[in-house]
Amino acid sequence: MDIDTKFYTSTLLNWYQTNRRDLPWRLSNNPYEIWIAEVIFQQTRINQGINYYHRFIERFPNISMLANASEDEVLKLWQGLGYYSRARNLWVTAKKVAFEMQGQFPNTFSEIKKLKGIGDYTAAAIASIAFNEPVPAVDGNVIRVISRLFTIDTPASSSKGKGEITQIAHSMIPADNPGDFNQALMEFGALQCTPRSPNCEICPLKNSCLAFKLSSIEKYPLKIIKKAVRIRHFNYLVVDDGEYLLFKKRTSGDIWENLYDFPLIETPDRYEIDKLMQTPQWKKLFNTSDICLENVSEEIIHQLSHQKIILRFYHIKITQPLEQTYYLSIVYNHVLSLPVPIIIGNYLANKFEIGATKKDNWI
Ligand code: SF4
Repeated sequence: MDIDTKFYTSTLLNWYQTNRRDLPWRLSNNPYEIWIAEVIFQQTRINQGINYYHRFIERFPNISMLANASEDEVLKLWQGLGYYSRARNLWVTAKKVAFEMQGQFPNTFSEIKKLKGIGDYTAAAIASIAFNEPVPAVDGNVIRVISRLFTIDTPASSSKGKGEITQIAHSMIPADNPGDFNQALMEFGALQCTPRSPNCEICPLKNSCLAFKLSSIEKYPLKIIKKAVRIRHFNYLVVDDGEYLLFKKRTSGDIWENLYDFPLIETPDRYEIDKLMQTPQWKKLFNTSDICLENVSEEIIHQLSHQKIILRFYHIKITQPLEQTYYLSIVYNHVLSLPVPIIIGNYLANKFEIGATKKDNWI
């Protein structure tokens, strides 16, 4: 493809000077702060993630502070952002840099990419913004802009499509200002060439945009067949003896790895309470114990990227400790400090608020 790259480069840089948002990490060329920002905002909108970014940087202002924190504390700060493997990887990588690399963040794209949890996009963003290396950072915004400008007819999810887009972005990137250019292209996608309503009439690139000329903006980027959403039914048992609740640390290989949740009975479909009480998990947990089912929550739907979780909380009072060693007994005062999935965090926060007004009767 024969492209007048200078035109695109200068137009995008000029647009960026006038339209860029004043975001805190833009004032920095510190690789640590850029890394944290890029990881937080990979799957999260700016207005949803900005407070998380501030809290994270305030608590862990440098890589050494992050490396010396506990995993639970990092996950707790991350609680509600989702995609918890990102937080775990940040922590693991911080430890590697702090303890095995003398605290020196690597300064080239290829070295940065070797770090756990850092892929092409994040490595390129850090290398270009912090170290001026001319490598294109291709995120969803960049894919959309370039797909439309040049009507790329290969799905961007394929390595061929991604390769075409990366090559075009690479041909535009100026050697003397790669960081600003990458941010300009991403910001242009976020603010101007938006997914649903790009403002083409005032777009400085409209005369060069093939999708605009062909009135086929909706077609680009080429749609990808989405992975089927898995539907799961979670029945959470909030086992409460008046002082403690039972929790379990989730293990690997499933969502919410290393977060804590209540005893869980996952069922193949919706189970009413009678049927739930017949499950081996229920029988094993409560055995012959006296229990009182105090409350069953409304059904809650929690949507994740590839899973839809349909769940209920069953608040169960017990009068004697259960004969079990599988779950942890966590005293009321500590439950809010556990890193938990946001859906459980909301449940607990709600219950604690009630507890504050009914001191002796927490739930
Ligand atoms: S003309 Fe429209 S579709 Fe083309 S780059 Fe501009 S905003 Fe995007």
